[in-house]
Amino acid sequence: MDTRLHALLTFDVDTMSLWRRSRDATAWSRGELGAVAVPRLLDLLATRDLRATFFVPGFTALTYPELVRRIRDGGHELGHHGWLHDSLVDADEATERRDLERGLEALDEVAGVRPVGYRSPAWATTDRTMRLLVEHGFVWDSSLMGDDHSPYRVRIGDRPGDGDTEPPWIFGAPTDLVEVPVAWSADDFPHFEYVPGRLDAMKPPSAVREIWQGDFEWARRHVPGGFWMITMHPQVIGRGHRLLMLEDLIDQVRAHTDVAFTTVSDYVDEWRAPAT
Ligand code: ZN
Repeated sequence: MDTRLHALLTFDVDTMSLWRRSRDATAWSRGELGAVAVPRLLDLLATRDLRATFFVPGFTALTYPELVRRIRDGGHELGHHGWLHDSLVDADEATERRDLERGLEALDEVAGVRPVGYRSPAWATTDRTMRLLVEHGFVWDSSLMGDDHSPYRVRIGDRPGDGDTEPPWIFGAPTDLVEVPVAWSADDFPHFEYVPGRLDAMKPPSAVREIWQGDFEWARRHVPGGFWMITMHPQVIGRGHRLLMLEDLIDQVRAHTDVAFTTVSDYVDEWRAPAT
C-alpha cells in the first residue's frame, strides 16, 4: 500500500430525486440544476485529468440517461445510489431488495455498468442493507461513519445490548464488504443549502474550505495510506462561488506530491491488496 494520502472526490447526482416528495414545483426544479452542473464538474475534472466517483440513483439514470453516459465516458466511476433516493430505514426487506435491484437495472440499462460500490440515499441504513450488499456482490459501501480517514470491514449484527445479561454493545460479525466512511461535515449540502423551514446554512465557501482543508491537512500528516473524501452534489457545489472554491482547493491539494487522486474503487482495491 502506498503511503500517500488518497483524495477521493465524490458526487451524488440526485437531481429531482431529492425533491420528488415535495408538492412544490419550485422545489422540484432545484434538482434540475444538478443536470446543468454535471458538465461543469466534468470539465473541471478533465482540465486536471482527474477521475472521480459519481453516485447515481436509478431515478437519475432513467431521467438523464445521456448525462450518465457522459459521466461514464469521462472515465469516472459510477456507484449505486438507490432507486428513488428514499430512506429505507422503515421499509421492509422486500422493498429494500427491490430498490437495490431496480437501481442496478437502471444503471445497466442506461450505461451498461454494474457498480461495485454503494452509497445509501441520505446515508440511512439498516443491518439488512449490508447483508443485501454482500448478497449482491458489492465490494464496498460508503454510508457509515465509524472512522474518518481509514476504510474498515463492515460488520453485520451490531446492536445495543441490555448491559445486564449481555454487554452494553454487541459487535456483529465482520464481512468482506469494505466501508469507506462518510461525514456530514465533509458533505456540501448541510453547509450550503437553504430549505425553507428545515435548513438555513448558506455558509460562505471560505468557511467550508476551512473545514475540508483542515481535514485534508490533518489526514496528510497523520494517516499515511489513508483517504480524504468529500461528498458533493452537483446541484449544490455547481454554483459559481462554490465552484471557484472547489477548483482552488483541488489545485492546492494537487500541489502536494504525497497525495494521489483516485476513484473509490481503485482505492479500495489497493487497500484490500496484500502488502508486497
Ligand atoms: Zn443523495
